[in-house]
Amino acid sequence: MLNTSDAPRPQRGIMGIILAFVPWILYWSLPAPWGLTGGLAGSALLLARQVGRGKPKLMDGVTLAFFVAAGIMSCGLHSPWFARWEGVLVFAVLAAMALVSLAVRAPFTLQYAREDWPQEFWHEPLFVRTNVHITLAWALAFLYGAGAAAFNTLNPPGIYAPLLTHAGTALGLAFTIIWPAYYPRRTIGRMLRKKERRRPRWPNPDLASWQQIRQIKADENDPPGPGRDSPIPLSLVYKVHPEDRFDVIVIGAGIGGLTAAARLANRGLRVCVLEKHHRPGGYCTSFVRKGYTFDGGVESISGCGPNGPVRLLLEELGLESRIEFRHHGHRLITPDGVIDIPSSYVEFTNLLIDLAPAEEEGIRTLMGELHAAYYQVYQDTPRTGGVPRPPATVDEMLRYPLDHPDFYRAMGYTWGDYLRRRVQDEHIIRILGLLTAYLGDRGLDTPAARMIPLMGYYVDGGVYPVGGSQRLADVLVEAIQEREGEVRLNSPVARILLAEDRAAGVRLEDGSELLAPVVISNADPQQTFLRLVGTGHLPADYVARVKRLRPSPSAFVLYMALERPSGLPERVFVLRDRPLPRDTFGIGSFLLVSNASLDPGMVPPNCGDLTMITLTRLTAEHLNCMARSDYLAFKEQLASIMLDYVEEVAPRIRRHIVHVEAATPRTFYRYTWNSQGCIYGLEPEAGPEGPVWLDRKTPIPGLWLVGASVEPGPGIEGVVISGTYCADEIYAGC
Ligand SMILES: Cc1cc2nc3c(=O)[nH]c(=O)nc-3n(C[C@H](O)[C@H](O)[C@H](O)COP(=O)(O)OP(=O)(O)OC[C@H]3O[C@@H](n4cnc5c(N)ncnc54)[C@H](O)[C@@H]3O)c2cc1C
Repeated sequence: MLNTSDAPRPQRGIMGIILAFVPWILYWSLPAPWGLTGGLAGSALLLARQVGRGKPKLMDGVTLAFFVAAGIMSCGLHSPWFARWEGVLVFAVLAAMALVSLAVRAPFTLQYAREDWPQEFWHEPLFVRTNVHITLAWALAFLYGAGAAAFNTLNPPGIYAPLLTHAGTALGLAFTIIWPAYYPRRTIGRMLRKKERRRPRWPNPDLASWQQIRQIKADENDPPGPGRDSPIPLSLVYKVHPEDRFDVIVIGAGIGGLTAAARLANRGLRVCVLEKHHRPGGYCTSFVRKGYTFDGGVESISGCGPNGPVRLLLEELGLESRIEFRHHGHRLITPDGVIDIPSSYVEFTNLLIDLAPAEEEGIRTLMGELHAAYYQVYQDTPRTGGVPRPPATVDEMLRYPLDHPDFYRAMGYTWGDYLRRRVQDEHIIRILGLLTAYLGDRGLDTPAARMIPLMGYYVDGGVYPVGGSQRLADVLVEAIQEREGEVRLNSPVARILLAEDRAAGVRLEDGSELLAPVVISNADPQQTFLRLVGTGHLPADYVARVKRLRPSPSAFVLYMALERPSGLPERVFVLRDRPLPRDTFGIGSFLLVSNASLDPGMVPPNCGDLTMITLTRLTAEHLNCMARSDYLAFKEQLASIMLDYVEEVAPRIRRHIVHVEAATPRTFYRYTWNSQGCIYGLEPEAGPEGPVWLDRKTPIPGLWLVGASVEPGPGIEGVVISGTYCADEIYAGC
């Protein structure tokens, strides 16, 4: 059994405050001595109930203390002073309580509001601020009550005296009900508008008009019909053959670019994808050596679960029957031992408990929360266009924590802090930290919100496309071509054409020009802006920001063709405390991939394959400076050291290698032109509320970004989401 956490229960808090007034209402409304008895009994009962639930409240404590003191003063000491001033004292005591709680930064109404929200929300600035306002309102209401009571004491009471005294309390109660419904909405609304204002404000071109204009022939000098402004100057349009005029041009056939292109082609736009390489896919590609098929990068795909974005994309394009995914296993080798991760989530949880039985409760709670959070990420995708979407309206923002409590709770934590809330065992933390390598080299500092979707590897299992990762790129290309789109390979883009300061098309390296009022760049943003657009066309602060962005790590990869099966499970993560003593590259941890058992067609009969992948911070620039002979020597030495590591897991594997080849950051740069050969895009900057990505809408009207460097980041699933966001925004403006 997995433990799950409570969802927030709104309205309990307000009920708590109303209940807190019941003893006072009894005190004020019943005749003496029953009023005091009622107040005392009521407050004692309330406090006893709260103590029983482990949640005693300041106001109820102060109320009980007051009634005890009142009992002593009036029944024990028969104090005439108290009898005269008790009305003032009641409010003065409550006002002091409210003011002191504000002074010590623990507004007393927080205790009630916390009844509605789990602990993770309690320190949210908006939550605390709303309660500061409410407590302040109560302090003023109580002070007013004290003043009104003093006035009534010193003057002959009129018939409206009780009304006057309690008007403040009534207003305080009304404020307590109205303010939490109004103030967070107003604040969130302002925040959303501010966020929207920070985005570039240009509108999408009128694609319906453009679709007519782009068809006019070069010798047809008739201007388009009235009201048909061309988003691209006609002088430029006439220069380009109609076959080379498109609605949308996509630079780069990575999965982000292909997703955006396929989704837009599916909606009837004329799309052209330009890829510099002779194969589509970017890092999601395969190559063949001596009859063995290897993957350039991608070896496992997430987002293929029931509501997963990759699955929903394939379904929408009618491609699901053209690509077969197979589940692969995971083995983990750590200094503490070898673990085969079970395919069932419950068995995986039980395995973790077996490893740290003393932490059973914490592990069950953590795994339950992770399971729930993972489902919450995807629960809306069938009705939000196939991808999870951040809340975009005030209502969505307010509902988000209620509808996605476990995921929301994870936001704001690093992965390490999130895990350690429940589990302290370092071995368990290490196991659950394993998949951080799929997002970069930040390890346990990776934001928890980015790790939750990767739980799919444990819940639904990781999958691999039969035929290699190239298959995914190929079926997307098929979808584009079947919808009258074009995918032109061996077509490096040298320049993004601008006309009247907006995107108008591209110039290829061979000098030919293609036009479109919408250009989507799947190329690395530093290349896009610094080389393809040119800094002179961009605001200086934007250029500075683009230059500041840090590339994610790159990788060393060793591809091994074997004369026999590797004998290893399909995916083996090796976590090491430190590199081998003879390793001059600082490798340490790595991943071993063998696909032949998943798909025997990847290798010649009875043979095997093995790929070793490890992250590195060595840059392509460093390696690009090397003379060819030095670089070849570097690669040879690298391959030898990598083989040393492999042989620690698969002894004497060298003997069975029929072909071996290493890839370095220089290789990854050469094939994709990604900055420094980084494999997970440019890293977002850190902001107070989490990672700040470059906006997919750029400062150049008509120019968009997709891929690993924009929200929600790298990985096939990530770039499918980014391609979908981009396509939807472009299409929404049509
Ligand atoms: C070794 C390795 C292992 C990985 N393992 C996984 C994994 O198991 N699972 C996973 O989900 N992700 C994995 N990733 C990450 C994943 O591959 C990437 O995050 C994702 O594929 C990036 O997609 P993208 O859309 O950003 O484009 P990219 O793949 O970066 O492709 C960009 C494309 O643009 C083209 N291009 C660039 N400039 C131009 C130009 N001027 N003109 C024309 N074309 C141009 C490039 O040639 C390239 O084809 C791995 C990556 C690597 C390298």
